[in-house]
Amino acid sequence: MSGPVSTIDAPLGTAEASRVAPPEVEISAAREAMVGAIRVRRSLPRRERRTVGAWCFADHMGPASVTETASVDIGPHPHTGLHTVTWLLEGEVLHHDSLGSEQVIRPGQLNLMTAGHGVAHSEEATGTYRGHLHGVQLWVAQPEATRHGPAAFEHHPELPRIQLGHSEATILVGTFCGRTSPARADTPLVGVDAVLQAGTTDWPLEAQFEHALLVLEGAIDLEGQPVEAGHLAYLGQGRQALALRTDSQAQLLLLGGEPFAEPILMWWNFVARNRAEVEAATREWNAQTPRFGSVASPLARIPAPQVPAGLRG
Ligand code: MN
Repeated sequence: MSGPVSTIDAPLGTAEASRVAPPEVEISAAREAMVGAIRVRRSLPRRERRTVGAWCFADHMGPASVTETASVDIGPHPHTGLHTVTWLLEGEVLHHDSLGSEQVIRPGQLNLMTAGHGVAHSEEATGTYRGHLHGVQLWVAQPEATRHGPAAFEHHPELPRIQLGHSEATILVGTFCGRTSPARADTPLVGVDAVLQAGTTDWPLEAQFEHALLVLEGAIDLEGQPVEAGHLAYLGQGRQALALRTDSQAQLLLLGGEPFAEPILMWWNFVARNRAEVEAATREWNAQTPRFGSVASPLARIPAPQVPAGLRG
C-alpha cells in the first residue's frame, strides 16, 4: 500500500547515514501523495529527516472509503534490503508475495516482510470489505549482515499490549516496558502503537535509541509544542522518559532504534548502498530474472522507472 520513494521525498544524492540529534523536538509535516486511489501522508523520508533508527519510510494511509472502484490495489513490485511493516487501524488488505504467501491483514495484526536480496509482493483489496481503510506502512532498513540474505514473511495475529497510565500500547516491534514483540528485528529497534486518553502519560524510553512520534489521529502536547495528525516529531537520542499530554483521545506511533550507522541510498522500492545496486535491481526486475520471483496476483506488474542521472553513490 506504500508508494515508491521519489525525488520529492528526499533530494537525490549520495548514500547517507543517520544524522543523530540530541534530545530536542524537531517537528516536520508529512507530504501528501496518492497511492492508487488512496491518499497517503509520507512522514519518512523527508528532506530534514531521512531515518529514525533503522526506520526509513513511513506512509500513513487514509482514512479513506473503500468502494467497488476505490481501494488499495498495488500490483506486484519488488523490494530489496528492507522489511515492510504493515499495521492497520481500520479495513483489510490482501497480501501476496513471491514466497507464495497469501495473507489478509486486519486491524491489530502485523505483517512483516523481509526483502533481503529480493522479494516481490502485491497489496490488494479483498473484494468483500466495505468501509474505511486506515493504516500505516513502514520500512526498516536491513543491515549489511542480513540485507543480501533470503526473503521472508511473518504474520502476527497477536501482539503484546500494555496499559500505561492514560495510554494503551501495542508493541509492534522490539521491547517496550518489558514486553517484547514476536516480530523480527535485525537491529535494535522499537515500534509501538498507542491510544492516549485525556491526561498526561509518562513513558520510559531506551536512552541509547533515537525516537520519533508519528501522530495518526487527534493531537498531542509534547513539552509545550502541539503535534497534530500528519506530523512527525523527532525526539533525538538520549531520552530516558517522555511525557505526553492530550485533551482528547489521540493515536500515535512511537518509532525508535539505535541510529542506523550504515549509509543507505533509497530509490523507488529499493534500499541500497550505491547507484550500481539500484541499477542492478531495476534491470533485473524489468527483465523478469529469477531474483524477485513471481507473485500470484490478478493485478498488473509495476515496471521500475529509469534510475535518474542525479542518483549517485
Ligand atoms: Mn511494497
